[in-house]
Amino acid sequence: MTPSFRASLRDLAAARPDLLIIGGGITGAGIARDAALRGLDVVLVEARDFGEGTSSRSSRLIHGGLRYLEQGRLGLVTEALRERAVLLRLAPHLVRPLPFVLPVFRGDRLSRWKVTLGLSLYDVLAGRGNVRRHQSLGKRGVLRLEPLLRERGLVGGALFHDAQCDDARLTLAVVRAAAARGARVANHMRVVDLLRESNRIAGARLRDELSGEEGEVGARLVVNATGPWSDAVRRLEDPAARPNLRATRGSHLMIPAARISNRNAILFTSPVDGRVMFVLPWGEWSYVGTTDTDTDEPADQVHATDADLVYLLRSANALFPGAHLTPDDVVATWAGLRPLLAARPGLPEWAVSREHRILRGPGGMLTIAGGKLTTFRRMAAQLVDRAAGELGSAPGSGRELSESDPLPGGEAVVVEGFRGPGLDLGLPPATVDHLLRLYGGEAPALYTMCRERPGLAARLHPEHPAIEAQVVFAVERELARRPEDILARRIHLATETRDHGARAAGRVAELLAETLAALR
Ligand SMILES: Cc1cc2nc3c(=O)[nH]c(=O)nc-3n(C[C@H](O)[C@H](O)[C@H](O)COP(=O)(O)OP(=O)(O)OC[C@H]3O[C@@H](n4cnc5c(N)ncnc54)[C@H](O)[C@@H]3O)c2cc1C
Repeated sequence: MTPSFRASLRDLAAARPDLLIIGGGITGAGIARDAALRGLDVVLVEARDFGEGTSSRSSRLIHGGLRYLEQGRLGLVTEALRERAVLLRLAPHLVRPLPFVLPVFRGDRLSRWKVTLGLSLYDVLAGRGNVRRHQSLGKRGVLRLEPLLRERGLVGGALFHDAQCDDARLTLAVVRAAAARGARVANHMRVVDLLRESNRIAGARLRDELSGEEGEVGARLVVNATGPWSDAVRRLEDPAARPNLRATRGSHLMIPAARISNRNAILFTSPVDGRVMFVLPWGEWSYVGTTDTDTDEPADQVHATDADLVYLLRSANALFPGAHLTPDDVVATWAGLRPLLAARPGLPEWAVSREHRILRGPGGMLTIAGGKLTTFRRMAAQLVDRAAGELGSAPGSGRELSESDPLPGGEAVVVEGFRGPGLDLGLPPATVDHLLRLYGGEAPALYTMCRERPGLAARLHPEHPAIEAQVVFAVERELARRPEDILARRIHLATETRDHGARAAGRVAELLAETLAALR
């Protein structure tokens, strides 16, 4: 179990790590873990909360990406499918197999034979790490799996498997794994400027966003892993740096599962514009995504627009005509900026590469941008190889650990064995399931808390199975420092209750303050 240790400005002032990583999304977290596993001295700083940028606003898929097959990007798909197999193993509680139904309608851009061909190739590329081989379905087969799907024009389809993840908790788990291997990590710690020693970038000026105080950290090498913010951070090194990214906004909306009645994940082409879209199950909820709109809005302010909502609802209604979804059904929305690599002007959004790029700035700072949640480990390995070269150390030693060292909670092979003890404690089955899903092999630590302080078994919100012990755990072990860190990214009340967790907010704030006071 990792201790909660948020490095302070004073800790950081005394450090001179091999690597200072700026940005605590999945990319920065992955680099911190990989580097720490290889024995490098690492500091990771995040301006807001871990994962608060793009890495908690994704479609939550760990996937090869069927649409990249359409673009002929076999290398990217093969790599991502391999990563899917690794992540299913490293964090089975956070990354889970997900059955998808892919319906084909008359006139769709993807015909039945193209779908069969694509999925056969997908199975082959997944090799031995495949979740399950796809199955071609006739119209009746599709309707057996999804009885409320539009029947008009349906000609058949397929059933295939990919994986779904809890993106915010996956990012957090990777940060904690890095910390467990010695990395010093701090959320709410913003880089406001870079330090130089004879024209080389040699550290950063920091502002602790919780206290408002400023300080400095020196470093042998600085890595910019700030996703959609990475061009802004590059300009701290070189004000004339040309943009490396082209941002597109992706929005999702969450609705009660009972209102749309999908039983599986559905991958379909939007009848509005022919784009590939998803309806994805999430416990009591389903979410619909995503849009892909070129935008120059600031990354801090990105949100789902009314037009996004209309587009997503129209697409979902066309797929499930009996649902008659309206904006009143929408419980929550989230949107993020895809940090896509800038490509030739005039290329449509969907055709812009999801691959990543490593750049070296004139002061020696390494910037990594692009990529996907799914391939974070591969990106991290490449960046740390490059960093090791810059630092003059051997890249090899410890490199393989990233593929075998389980993430926190992923150590237990069969989490199901923890169900009985939770029920024996008197926790409701829905709460036990929720704890197993979020904490995996760490669930017993929450049981212990409930045993020692029975009040912590109380529910936080009448609509949600989360309990008070999770708030204490979030502060003690998961570096949560503000109520929003807990409501939005540790236990998801913000997106999984109709009032966005408002009824629990007071109690969450109280427990947070109490726990922080006890830690000091
Ligand atoms: C709508 C959408 C859907 C997606 N769906 C999927 C999917 O299903 N599967 C998949 O594999 N990928 C998906 N992706 C892609 C994936 O989410 C991103 O590639 C990934 O999350 C990017 O992570 P990152 O760490 O590079 O960036 P971010 O997560 O944005 O992290 C960058 C961090 O840097 C921090 N930062 C910025 N400036 C500073 C500073 N000055 N000091 C300190 N910190 C700073 C930010 O606060 C931020 O937390 C999706 C992306 C979007 C937008």
